[in-house]
Amino acid sequence: MPVTDTLDRPLRDLRISVTDRCNFRCTYCMPKEVFGHDFPFLPRQELLTFEEIARVARLAVGLGVRKIRLTGGEPLLRRDIEVLIAMLREIEGLDEIALTTNASLLQRKAQGLKDAGLDRITVSLDSLDDATFQSMNDVRFPVGKVLAGIEAADAAGLNPIKINMVVKRGVNEQDIVPMAEHFRGTGHIVRFIEFMDVGHTNGWRMDDVVTAAEVVERINAVFPLQQADPNYPGEVANRWRYEDGAGEIGVIASVTQAFCGACTRARLSAEGKLYTCLFGLRGHDVRALLRGEQTDEEIDAFLSGVWGKRVDRYSEIRSEGTVNLPKVEMSYIGG
Ligand code: SF4
Repeated sequence: MPVTDTLDRPLRDLRISVTDRCNFRCTYCMPKEVFGHDFPFLPRQELLTFEEIARVARLAVGLGVRKIRLTGGEPLLRRDIEVLIAMLREIEGLDEIALTTNASLLQRKAQGLKDAGLDRITVSLDSLDDATFQSMNDVRFPVGKVLAGIEAADAAGLNPIKINMVVKRGVNEQDIVPMAEHFRGTGHIVRFIEFMDVGHTNGWRMDDVVTAAEVVERINAVFPLQQADPNYPGEVANRWRYEDGAGEIGVIASVTQAFCGACTRARLSAEGKLYTCLFGLRGHDVRALLRGEQTDEEIDAFLSGVWGKRVDRYSEIRSEGTVNLPKVEMSYIGG
């Protein structure tokens, strides 16, 4: 039975983090100073198994979920993730399985992901300039390998591909137009993301935010744009089409144009905690129920109870007082 929250928002999207580990150290998400060599990542036995993830997913589809996105950390680091995708593909009523990756392993894995039943892929790429990109991922990973991963995903049929670029003032705003230009006419869609105060370790300041309006202005000055309608209610990105027909871009404006009113997303952490907002302060422990012999009906009641009481609208209430709250880390909960 589909569920709605206290603001009448249905549960439609479940984002599942399959690992809290990543092989990048992006400064706005997983700064090296915090996530160093001795950081206590989750031990394997604390991660949900594929069977447990598939069980939660199946029950969530019963509550209205139609789209599942696999995230991390870096989801392709989770061994045999193709097996999980094939298990999720079996779930009746699930329309779409997507995955967000830094593409470091994509060139090798793209075809296997497609064959397992993955529908779509989103690649994070914050600059085409090697020096800038390598300073942002902070592990000296080259742009060329990410582009090769995108090509492999395209060849495997995981298209159109979405490319997510987080824009931070003083770091990569000069790369906005080159990024737009590079993917124009390819069918792939670049989404420019406002730098967000996710978690409580990325040193977020409003001064470092390049607003969605500024992003559009910069591109429009070179490649004229016109606003396009959302593909579906609750779509995260605002769509802009190139007037000359060379495709479209998206802007994700969580800071300056909050979209909580239509937010239909829940998130499950790799150790089985359910969060009802990306900026959540605490999660609800589903793993204890999964390992505690609870029946499907009992877990169902728990999930719909959590969503039914949901009041989250963080981006609408963001203020100086909320920025430093001990919010869940993006690397732990996935985007
Ligand atoms: S801030 Fe929370 S409620 Fe608002 S759109 Fe993001 S995840 Fe949804």
